[in-house]
Amino acid sequence: MTGFETLAIHAGQEPDPTTGAVVVPIYQTSTYVQEEVGRHKGYEYSRSGNPTRTALETCLAALEGGATGLAFASGLAAEDTLIRTVLKPGDHVIVPNDAYGGTYRLFAKVASRWGIEHTPVPLADLDAVAKAMTPSTRMIWCETPTNPLLGIADIAGLAEIAKGATLVVDNTFASPYLQQPLALGADVVVHSTTKYLGGHSDVVGGALVTADTALGEELAFHQNAMGSVPGAFDSWLVLRGVKTLGVRMDRHCENAAQVVELLTRHAAVSEVLYPGLPEHAGHDIATKQMKAYGGMVSFRLAGGEEKALEVCKRTEVFTLGESLGGVESLIEHPGRMTHASVAGSQLEVPSDLVRLSVGIETADDLLADLERALS
Ligand SMILES: *Cc1c(COP(=O)(O)O)cnc(C)c1O
Repeated sequence: MTGFETLAIHAGQEPDPTTGAVVVPIYQTSTYVQEEVGRHKGYEYSRSGNPTRTALETCLAALEGGATGLAFASGLAAEDTLIRTVLKPGDHVIVPNDAYGGTYRLFAKVASRWGIEHTPVPLADLDAVAKAMTPSTRMIWCETPTNPLLGIADIAGLAEIAKGATLVVDNTFASPYLQQPLALGADVVVHSTTKYLGGHSDVVGGALVTADTALGEELAFHQNAMGSVPGAFDSWLVLRGVKTLGVRMDRHCENAAQVVELLTRHAAVSEVLYPGLPEHAGHDIATKQMKAYGGMVSFRLAGGEEKALEVCKRTEVFTLGESLGGVESLIEHPGRMTHASVAGSQLEVPSDLVRLSVGIETADDLLADLERALS
């Protein structure tokens, strides 16, 4: 059992031993019976462990080719647990200069209060990363492709620079179906399972997967000690979503390619940001480290911010909303929505930028919708 789709459907998901239920049940319980003090079936309390969550964690570890998988209540809860497990006051972190806004906020506004320092660096430039390394650099935080500018970083190149520092890759945009950071030398993969892994815009969740067991055990200790775990139902929703990840991603990528084709020849569009385009600065690296280029597409409007806001208002199949990675297509204005929290910082995004999460609807409907909104 090694194929990606087979693992997605079966890893960690044995038929229920008591009833034979084929699908892992939602173990909606906080506590577990003990036959005598300390004698039980491996579960004592659902913050420490829950069978539905265990199934999800085992499956995610298998999909990323890692030693340990851990599920959290949100992507940011996973990130917070990782930061506070690996780092201590005085440590320095290299963060992408176009990181997800919430990740940047966590370093700039929260971790900084505990003496953890960070430097935003363009990760696509390996020389700049090497130059930014200091004797106290304990972590390189990588996102590729980035949100919302779709920048590409060379994971294997960063692993060479990281040496003793922990290389973290936020794999939310690509998903393990398109990109396997641990095989390229990363130490930890981070996910917002809210996005492609859940895939249906009906749950908020996060995950960490480690390359080695020692870090996995340390993180598991902190997962329990800090307690930002997902409930059984949320774990079940993500596990259910993961089963179809492969077929969904194939369609997301196919539809995105068609959308990119329309946008690149449209007069209202001044620039299309998509790693699948040969002129994209990270195209060659994306081709090397990704199976396909993903379902996220950003573009800039020749008519500036006003036109960008108008397009966001005019689409009908593309729903105006934050988040991404669900079956339905979404459109948003990063400058005023998802990335409003980084306005005025080094991470500010252009005001004429629009981001699409291309869903798995009929491609012709998506194209007609964009054509109508742009004209
Ligand atoms: C959404 C997102 C996060 C944060 O995850 P939440 O589940 O919203 O807490 C982190 N990284 C990326 C790339 C994201 O898109």
